[in-house]
Amino acid sequence: MSDGPRRLRVAVGGIVHETNTFIPRPTTLATLRAADWLAGERLVAAYRGTGTELGGMLAAAERLGLEAVPAVYVAAEPGGLVSAEAYAAAAGALLDALAAAGPLDAVCLALHGAGVADGVDDLEGDLLARVREQVGPSVPVLATLDLHTNLTAAMVAHATALVPCLRYPHVDFEACGERAVELAAGCARGELRPVTAARSVPLLTPPTATDGGVGAELRAAAEAWRERPGVLHAAYLHGFPFTDVPAVGAAALVVADGDAALAEQGADALADELWRRRERLPVERPDAAAAVAAALRAVATGENGRPVVLAEVSDNPGGGAPGDGTRLLRAMVAAELPDACFGFLCDEAAAAAAHAAGEGARIALRLGGASGPAAGEPLAVEAEVVRLTDGRFRALHPMERGRQVDLGPSALLRIGTVEVIVASGRTQTLDEAIFALHGVDVARRAVVALKSSAHYRAWFAPRASAVIEADTGGATSAAVERLGHRRLRRPVWPLDPDAPPTRPLA
Ligand SMILES: [Zn+2]
Repeated sequence: MSDGPRRLRVAVGGIVHETNTFIPRPTTLATLRAADWLAGERLVAAYRGTGTELGGMLAAAERLGLEAVPAVYVAAEPGGLVSAEAYAAAAGALLDALAAAGPLDAVCLALHGAGVADGVDDLEGDLLARVREQVGPSVPVLATLDLHTNLTAAMVAHATALVPCLRYPHVDFEACGERAVELAAGCARGELRPVTAARSVPLLTPPTATDGGVGAELRAAAEAWRERPGVLHAAYLHGFPFTDVPAVGAAALVVADGDAALAEQGADALADELWRRRERLPVERPDAAAAVAAALRAVATGENGRPVVLAEVSDNPGGGAPGDGTRLLRAMVAAELPDACFGFLCDEAAAAAAHAAGEGARIALRLGGASGPAAGEPLAVEAEVVRLTDGRFRALHPMERGRQVDLGPSALLRIGTVEVIVASGRTQTLDEAIFALHGVDVARRAVVALKSSAHYRAWFAPRASAVIEADTGGATSAAVERLGHRRLRRPVWPLDPDAPPTRPLA
C-alpha cells in the first residue's frame, strides 16, 4: 500500500517595493514595519482569497494539492530609496523564514522588479541571488514581477522562471501568482524545464496603460506569444522611469519549455514590436486649468448621468509621489466645479485638525503642498468638516480585491462646491471604497477627482461618462525625460535618437 505521492512543499513570500529614487524621503525600516510585514499564518490570513499575487499563489497551491509554506512578505507603498538597514532586515527575515521552513520543493516569490536599496541598484536581482545560493541549484525559484520592472540579467539568471504581469492596470496579478505556482509544481516534478530569453529595449518613456491604444497592441503581441505551444510565459516589462539606475528601460521576455531557440525567437519578435511603436509612447496631457475646463465641458455635454472622472496622474502615490499636490484641487475650487468630490489628498496635519475640530466645524487650513515644490503651494481654505473616519476599508479593485487598507484618521471636508477627502496615510485611489467610507456616492456626483496614473481606470472607466487625465507637473509627471537621470545607460530613446533597438540586459 502506498500513501500516494508526497505533497510538494512550496514556500510563498516576497518583498515588494517600487522605488522612486527622485523622491527625497527614504523608505526606512520603520516605513516597512508600518506597512505589510507578515510571516507565517498571518500572511495566509491577510492574503488568502485576495486578488493579489499572494492570493493567486495560495489559491493555486490549494487547487493543485500542494502544501503552501508561508515565509515572509514585506510590501510597502511605492516611495523613495530603501535604506540599507531596511533592505537588510527584510531580506534577512525572508531568508531566515525559508531556512526555517524545512525541506522545500520550490520557492515562489512576489517581487516588484523596480526595487532599489541604498548600495543595491537591483533589489530583486540581489534577493534572488541570495535565495538561490541558500536553497541550492536544484530547487525551483519562481517570481512574479510587476509590469514596471527594470529587468536585469541577475533577475533572469537566478530565477528558474519569471512571471511578470501583462496588464496595466495590473488586474492579472492574481493570475500571475497562480501561474508561478503551476510552473513551480511542474519544475519540481521534473515535467518542465524553463529557459528564458530577454532583450533590453532602450526606452525612457512614461507609463503606458494596456487597456487601449499602443499599450493594448503590445499586450496582445505578448499574449499571442504566451499562447504558442512550448511557451510557458511571455511579457513586456515597461520599465519604471522614476528611478535612476543603469537598468532603467523596457524589456521583452519569453520563457519556453526546454526550447532555447523558441525563447530567443520570441524575445526578438516582441522587442521588435515594441521598438517599432516607440514614437507613440510619449504622451502630452492637459495641465490643471485645462483639465478642469475640459471637465466643465464634459459635465455640460454628459448624457448618461455618470460622473466625469478627473485623474491627477502626475501626483500618484502608486508611483512614489507624495500625494499632497494641490494644483488640480486649486483649479477645481477656483472654477467652482459643480457637485465635485476629490478623493484624496495625503495630509496628516489636515486630517488631525479636522478630527480635533469635530464634524460640523468650520476650520481654516493650509491644505497639502508640504512635500516640496513639485506638489505646488499649500492651498489656504476655510473648510467645513463633513465627516470623520478611521481611514480603514477593503479594496474593491481587481488588483487588490479584498485587501485591507488602513490610511489612519481621515476626513471629508467641504470647500465651496468641492468636497475633498484628506487622509493621514498615502496610497493611490484605485476604486470608490474611500469615497463610500466617507459617505460619498460617486455615481451621484458630477465630477470625481483622484490621484492615480492608470490603475484607477479598471474601476472607474466603466462607471464614468468621461475620463480626463491631468498632468500637473508632480513627481510622476509623464515628462520623464526631464527628470534628470544621471546613471541611466545611454544611448536611450528619445534622449538619443540614434539608440539601437535592443541591447543586453544591465
Ligand atoms: Zn506597476
